[in-house]
Amino acid sequence: MRNYTQFYIDGAFVDPITPKTAEVINPATEAVSGTISLGSEADVDKAVAAARRAFASWSVSTVAERTDLLGAILAEYERRERELGEAVTEEMGAPLSLGCGFHTLLGKGHIGTALEVLKTYKFEEERGVTMIRKEPIGVCGLITPWNWPMNQTCVKIAPALATGCTMILKPPQLAPYSAQILAEILHTAGVPAGVFNMVQGAGSVIGAALSRHKDVDMISFTGSEPVGVQIQKDAADTVKRVGLELGGKSAWIVLDDTSMAANVAGATGGMMGNSGQTCSAGSRLLVPAARMEEAIAAAAEAANGVTVGDPTGNFAMGPVVSKSQYNIIQDYITKGIDEGATLIAGGPGRPEGIDKGWFVRPTVFVGTNDMVIAREEIFGPVLVMIGYDDLDHAVEIANDSDFGLGGYVSGEDLGVARDVSKRMRTGAIWVNGGFDFNAPFGGYKRSGNGREWGVEGFAEYLETKAIVGWNAAG
Ligand code: NDP
Repeated sequence: MRNYTQFYIDGAFVDPITPKTAEVINPATEAVSGTISLGSEADVDKAVAAARRAFASWSVSTVAERTDLLGAILAEYERRERELGEAVTEEMGAPLSLGCGFHTLLGKGHIGTALEVLKTYKFEEERGVTMIRKEPIGVCGLITPWNWPMNQTCVKIAPALATGCTMILKPPQLAPYSAQILAEILHTAGVPAGVFNMVQGAGSVIGAALSRHKDVDMISFTGSEPVGVQIQKDAADTVKRVGLELGGKSAWIVLDDTSMAANVAGATGGMMGNSGQTCSAGSRLLVPAARMEEAIAAAAEAANGVTVGDPTGNFAMGPVVSKSQYNIIQDYITKGIDEGATLIAGGPGRPEGIDKGWFVRPTVFVGTNDMVIAREEIFGPVLVMIGYDDLDHAVEIANDSDFGLGGYVSGEDLGVARDVSKRMRTGAIWVNGGFDFNAPFGGYKRSGNGREWGVEGFAEYLETKAIVGWNAAG
């Protein structure tokens, strides 16, 4: 049992001002796995005051001081990486191989990337008579979700630290453990008091208090669209910057010139990773209509081949994060059947032989782009395959979405694949796979407004100042 009932404020682990606790449930067993504290607005005020005080010195720290600190954080993160991965598995149900693999690797990658970007980042640039300075925006509220906990916390904390900002992290109630360990890592690494603070608790209390707070200069949020909208409204009165990374319904286009079976299988398996709980998951798989039969066989075989079970065992997929998420996904599967989509793998209920835990069957439908299951973010292992007539039709379907976060193109002819990628209205496209910590990540349309990762991730936390007359005219 884990007992994480203290917050991290002003360089110390402290009790909440008013004691209140909540149980955390292990999604694989439905058993209580530990306890956290739920904070109040008073805890937020305390954390913001600490961050405000610390901003005076941290905002003028040197690049060398900040690179040293990020290096120390990276070393301490690596030392406790296994612990972090185990916490991720326990809190949100990712298989241990994933929790201790890609989950923690992403967090580490963002810290290392921020460190490298910082070494050469141009905080000052002279342009004619003017000096353009990039200055830290101030006190930042970082509000994160449960689906990739280390990715989403580190992608915010590392650039915020690197740019000289101070911050208050509000981790998700569903996945609070890894954030608590991360706070310990930052403490041990020597983050100065008040630069990083963490308050656990309900989003409607802690997140809203941060969003409305007059001494918070910026909010960086990853999560659902409705909460993103609410945060913007809460932040409006204080005119603070709000960076939003919201949901998606990303299209994966398999071109006609490539191996249908291999690419459909890869896309299907990839989509089921992390139980489909990835904002950029390729949850609409677009295949040539003339080759639908081939695609159906490959997708069904791939989905049926995804082993589901105890995340501490040797399975490809664990549970989804919570009972409520399980119920939402079940409703979508029922909706898909009711609206006439063809079920080719999976379906309602738990996988055979499992009667406990929030396990979902890897599910594949063949449908059309106007169906609810093709339009709304399900956030579970539910894939919709849609046939297209030609390239124009594929691009049209891909772009016919309220979202615009990710996109995927698989094809042999790189020229064609590149052309298709340029026509897709999303913030990121992966052409025949690939991975890059320096590639900016964020959405078009209702998938958000900011860019994280790499050098673009710094801009979220910086103000631009022009000092005109810095150089003599002429
Ligand atoms: P939410 O958007 O509800 O939660 C994300 C974070 O915001 C959590 O820390 C949450 O706190 C906090 N929060 C909740 N309400 C407020 C508020 N009024 N003001 C400020 N912060 C708030 O996502 P969920 O975790 O509930 O997931 C719901 C859906 O969101 C999923 O089904 C999925 O579709 C989508 N989602 C998308 C993600 C993405 O990366 N694009 C990531 C996660 C979810 P609390 O701890 O109380 O939940």
